[in-house]
Amino acid sequence: MKPYAFGIDIGGTTVKCGFFNNDGTFVEKWEIPTRKENKGERILPDIADSIREKLAKHGVSMDDVEGIGVGVPGPVLDDGVVNGCVNLGWGVFNVKETLSGLLGGIRVSAGNDANVAALGEQWLGGGKGFSNVVMVTLGTGVGGGIIVGGRILAGAHGAGGEIGHILMNENETECCGCGKKGCLEQYASATGIVRMAKITLSDNEKPSKLRSLAEVTSKDIFDLAKAGDETAVELVEKLGKMLGTALAHITCVVDPDVIVVGGGVSKAGQILIDTIQKYYVPAAFHACRATQFKLAELGNDAGMYGAVRMVLY
Ligand SMILES: [Zn+2]
Repeated sequence: MKPYAFGIDIGGTTVKCGFFNNDGTFVEKWEIPTRKENKGERILPDIADSIREKLAKHGVSMDDVEGIGVGVPGPVLDDGVVNGCVNLGWGVFNVKETLSGLLGGIRVSAGNDANVAALGEQWLGGGKGFSNVVMVTLGTGVGGGIIVGGRILAGAHGAGGEIGHILMNENETECCGCGKKGCLEQYASATGIVRMAKITLSDNEKPSKLRSLAEVTSKDIFDLAKAGDETAVELVEKLGKMLGTALAHITCVVDPDVIVVGGGVSKAGQILIDTIQKYYVPAAFHACRATQFKLAELGNDAGMYGAVRMVLY
């Protein structure tokens, strides 16, 4: 294997770039802005320019680079075709071939950003030492990634690991961002728990410190739950029940070694894991009840680690 590789995590506002040694340690990491104008046509050329610049800076030849892994915020098929990417303005095209063409034919591998972050956590984070990992990322939405035998399960349509859109409540009247009603992320994301808080606070008159806040955040809810606020505890329980139940459905199918929980909401820490497990265990198939739960460890770098891992097998 060649001594270097790149792991690139393309986001809606910035592109996180990692120049790695082939053991997964950073030579350097940096960010460039994501230029989304003109259907995002500059995004890949900007990445290619930035990579060339860093190689020159460190005096490394392209011949010493094993490849470039790229995480993209949309569905990606195994052959590198991006199946539309609203956040970047991209339509359907082959990101792998395009970026490779911009850099003299170098090997490029591409995956969905949530799947790629899961691969990063499986390799060097919360899932280290295990080859079968389910990762759930609780941020604005609920992202997910499934790693089986150390490989991303991208699926036939690039939608493998879309845990956030499992139907959890067929009586829901509000729409999810995906257009369906009753998806997991309407309850179990940072926005989901805040949405539930607004409903709960207007449905009853129970005293709660949440009422005194101008703008409730998921962090407020978890902090107040830790302090014993009854309404906040109820909200955390609701989130835990939704997640625990959804994860019990998933382990029936995937049976992973470990479930890694990441994203902004996971900063709440052990209370989150404990509440998910409280509902997971009774809902799980008996053989999967002992599945381990761990917090993610790589934070915002998980995408870069996972991206580079795709070319460092
Ligand atoms: Zn949905």
